[in-house]
Amino acid sequence: MSRNPNINTTPPRLMRAIRKAMAGTESVQERLDHFVEVITQAMKVKVASIYLRRPSRELELSATKGLKKSAVHKTLMARGEGLVGHVAQTARPLNLADAPAHPLFSYRPETGEEKYSSFLGVPILRGGRTLGVLVVQSEERRNFNEEEVEDLLTVAMVLAEIIVDDERVGGKKGALKGITLTPTKPETITGKAFADGLAEGIAHLHLPPVAPSNLLADNIAAEEIRLEEGVAKLRASVDAMVSGEAASLSRASKEIYETYRMFAYDRKWVKRLREAVHSGLTAEAAVERVRNEHRARLMKSPDPYMRARLHDLEDLANRLLRALSGEALGPKSIPQNAIIFARDLGPAELLDYDRDKLAGIVLEEGAHSSHTSIICRAIGVPLIGRAEGILDRIEVGDVVLIDGESGEVHMRPVESRVANFHLRMNIRGEVAKAYEAVKHKPAVTKDGRHIALQLNAGLIVDLPQLDAAGADGIGLFRTEFQFMVSDFMPRLKEQTDLYRQALEAAGHRPVTFRTLDLGGDKILPYMDPVPEENPAIGWRAIRIGLDRPALLRYQCRALIAAAAGRNLRVMFPMVTTVDEFIAARGLFDTEVKRASSLGHSLPHKIEVGVMLETPSLAWSVRAICDHADFVSVGCNDLMQFFFAADRDNIRVSDRYDPLHPAALSILRFIADGCQKADVPASICGEIAGRPIEAVTLVALGFESLSMPVTGIGPVKAALLALDVGKLKALITPLINVDSRLSTIRDHVREFCMEEGIPV
Ligand code: PEP
Ligand code: MG
Repeated sequence: MSRNPNINTTPPRLMRAIRKAMAGTESVQERLDHFVEVITQAMKVKVASIYLRRPSRELELSATKGLKKSAVHKTLMARGEGLVGHVAQTARPLNLADAPAHPLFSYRPETGEEKYSSFLGVPILRGGRTLGVLVVQSEERRNFNEEEVEDLLTVAMVLAEIIVDDERVGGKKGALKGITLTPTKPETITGKAFADGLAEGIAHLHLPPVAPSNLLADNIAAEEIRLEEGVAKLRASVDAMVSGEAASLSRASKEIYETYRMFAYDRKWVKRLREAVHSGLTAEAAVERVRNEHRARLMKSPDPYMRARLHDLEDLANRLLRALSGEALGPKSIPQNAIIFARDLGPAELLDYDRDKLAGIVLEEGAHSSHTSIICRAIGVPLIGRAEGILDRIEVGDVVLIDGESGEVHMRPVESRVANFHLRMNIRGEVAKAYEAVKHKPAVTKDGRHIALQLNAGLIVDLPQLDAAGADGIGLFRTEFQFMVSDFMPRLKEQTDLYRQALEAAGHRPVTFRTLDLGGDKILPYMDPVPEENPAIGWRAIRIGLDRPALLRYQCRALIAAAAGRNLRVMFPMVTTVDEFIAARGLFDTEVKRASSLGHSLPHKIEVGVMLETPSLAWSVRAICDHADFVSVGCNDLMQFFFAADRDNIRVSDRYDPLHPAALSILRFIADGCQKADVPASICGEIAGRPIEAVTLVALGFESLSMPVTGIGPVKAALLALDVGKLKALITPLINVDSRLSTIRDHVREFCMEEGIPV
């Protein structure tokens, strides 16, 4: 990007006038009146009006210069009504020479606008929301030029920040008749509880808006230079990814980085940024404005591919903001007991936050089995997802209670709610103490069955949980997490180091490493998702491993090196046929031979197992047992394929119960098949961590369960009170192909109540 030598260093006249208008200390209404006055003078138009969105989503005329004052706070436009409604709905500017001739023109006699021909309306955007519409009109028929459109967009952005900031300050300034754009009343929104726990804290926005004081440029040329430098830094970092060691790993990774670079060099994106700076914004505000525009448009797109593009562009915008601020890429600073609010949050972004200060997370999107949810469960941070529209209702600094049992988010709660919440937090604390008391006891049932309770893990942050929870080992180490949380493909040494640390933390306890399970919803930050119709049953996991053997072999090499002199347990994900397993095991064996021929020290003992998570492999259980040293049933995937219900799709993921007799039949079939072949079988899906499901799985014959850390205490407490023989006798007749039951949950729950089993 080269500097434009013709650029004027002084901000445009309109911007200078706006800056003056900003300096006043009047109420919000006076400020809006002042703004419209200034706009008409600087743009030489007859009319300037501000329409703001009410909570009911109607647009209300809130200030005007040129239309009849008596219409202010009276004229309301319904969603999508008239030209103003159209601008709000499309989140795009509308520039017309002859507005009354437009089919959407809606005549409002009370405003007296019929004599004005030309119309320019721009959305007032903030964080992807449309707060309102800013309109200028004049009598003569003419189209506004590009510069005027740009200027008005810039004023709209400044307006959005000022209104919200004034409201936040409150008092006289915050009183805008009839409308509040920032919420002040107590409110509750119910989403989905994706990670358990109760938290009280202070709202913190993951992507905070640029502060109003930092919106307008003092010197445009200086801002242009800052923008240039920021973009150059951003590009250099993306170039480094492309030419880095990781990119040479495979053709696929090279392609991934190249796509990323394409976005960083996108001329249109940079052109929009530059235009925004030329209109008088600081470099940061320009990034924010262009991001708001993209969000407002792409979020409306029903096409998932377009929405994925939004993620790429947001990521680039974030990187650019960080480059502009010169911020180091270390942990992000947040207040004590921060509750992070975001549209969505990747695992890497989550781990950027200081764990000691993070109290909870609330997302508008997210999914129960997404990796962010899995990590929150692992580190014990409550997470509420699918909290629709919550970013519209929350402001930085609001007091928030989040309930990871019910999925409720209470914003600005009243005192009695807070008191009640504290009571529940105390009770949970007492229960946690009770689990602590049995931490060092083995999980032996009343009739003497010893059940291994293991941990699902994948990151260094998980390792201290092994001792904290008193787990018997790591039953599922999700190796892809390391790949997902880093900006670059982890090198051999980094992979080896992590695996070695996991083995060291476990000591004498077993660790079962699962090779990369990428694809589906597990997308790498440096990998452009290959659009697929059905990603969960697409090119993922072992399928990628077998098609790109270099990547899988590289990982096996790291695992073999890390386990030198120790026991190594490895398993492959998403295997559907015995042949696939044999091929994957062949690649692993090649790496063992390679290490041996190079004279490297080898693991003391090696076991190679399989994840059983597809129905086809379940029906091949006897055959797979001839080749695999152990079987680990991945119930998350097995159940989604068995019930044909996408685990990440909120509309269908809760439609079935894993305690359906048909699902339990297939699990029993697997347990029996493994038992007959004398091959150890365990369960490693999320259901293993829920007491009712866990006691049922044990009654089916599974003696090893691997689960999120939060499950270990409750499951152990239940197992210590369980007589397996009795439960087996109860459920065996219920699990048969003739059953008309849709679940045996009530039967198991009743049994547990009678037996005094805490579930
Ligand atoms: C599973 O599918 O049950 C499993 C444990 O693996 P993941 O959740 O990582 O797909
Ligand atoms: Mg799985």
